[in-house]
Amino acid sequence: MRTEMLTIGAFARACRLSPKALRLYDELDLLRPARVDPDTGYRYYAAGQLERARLVAWLRRLGMPLAGIREVCALPPRAAAREIRAHWARVEAETAVRRDLAAFLVDHLTGESRKDTTMLELRYSAHSDTGRVRPANQDTAYAGARLLAVADGCGPAGAHASSAAVEALKFLENTEPAAGSVLNLLEDAVQGASQAVRDVAAGSEEVGTTLTALLWTGSRLALVHIGDSRAYLLREGGLFRITHDHTVVQSMIDEGRLTPEEAAAHPQRALLLKALGAGTTAGTTAAPDLKLHDALPGDRYLLCSDGLTGVVAEERIQGLLSAPATPDEAVRALVDEANEAGGPDNVSCVVADVVAV
Ligand code: MG
Repeated sequence: MRTEMLTIGAFARACRLSPKALRLYDELDLLRPARVDPDTGYRYYAAGQLERARLVAWLRRLGMPLAGIREVCALPPRAAAREIRAHWARVEAETAVRRDLAAFLVDHLTGESRKDTTMLELRYSAHSDTGRVRPANQDTAYAGARLLAVADGCGPAGAHASSAAVEALKFLENTEPAAGSVLNLLEDAVQGASQAVRDVAAGSEEVGTTLTALLWTGSRLALVHIGDSRAYLLREGGLFRITHDHTVVQSMIDEGRLTPEEAAAHPQRALLLKALGAGTTAGTTAAPDLKLHDALPGDRYLLCSDGLTGVVAEERIQGLLSAPATPDEAVRALVDEANEAGGPDNVSCVVADVVAV
């Protein structure tokens, strides 16, 4: 039986890809013609290749990079569907980060910053504890009038890595950020922190740290975040998580491959997708999330390492934060709670209240 052969022009019309695109996909090994005439070099395609060509065309329209398309095309339909869902989850996560940036720019350009003249400041406390199981504390927690930070180091020099990252941010305590430049200032500070961690790591790919920090501008808090430490906001009784874990299990939840309940018990739940230092080649920094939050009097912020959230449920955290206690008392209560739950990891908490003065 002879398979029906289509010229490149006829095939292009049938699958809605241009002949130029078909030639490119041939070169990239994405869609090889069934036959190439040895004399003329003309490409011929089998009718049976149309389905794959249409899939390639749709995936291009979706904006999927060629490497991703090659992967999807090599998979059976169910697995291919899973890959497409995963791709889209990543697109949406990236869009969310850009949406926050756009909101900040709109705010900034229209001057919709605080119009009232209420002076606000932070009341704060920080504490880091080894916990009940680990031989050493590799976390670092810091709180000052302008800077709040939690870092959770990993690898043989993890303690040095987390303290180096926080040390590298401390100059921000004495820097008055210009109105429009606070995110740039933080981004530069993170580059410095990343370099400090790489210096500590001295080439070891195992050494790195998470970093979640808030910088106070007098009316807003700028957030920088990388890894699986977390920031929460308690506002009018509601607890809101304002960071997204950069972990393998969180991305699997986002992609619909895992439920939050399954993730909580997953053996690799601590595996990070991003951190400062670890696994990054010299000179590059995995991009942190950057965000600006308008502060309101009465807001209470919590920064914590996974030593808290790994063993204390969010409802319990909300209960402890809601109690009428000073930041210092709240921090102690949270750390005690983690230790009473077994204290399997180092635990660090920073609590800061926004108060009118
Ligand atoms: Mg930890």
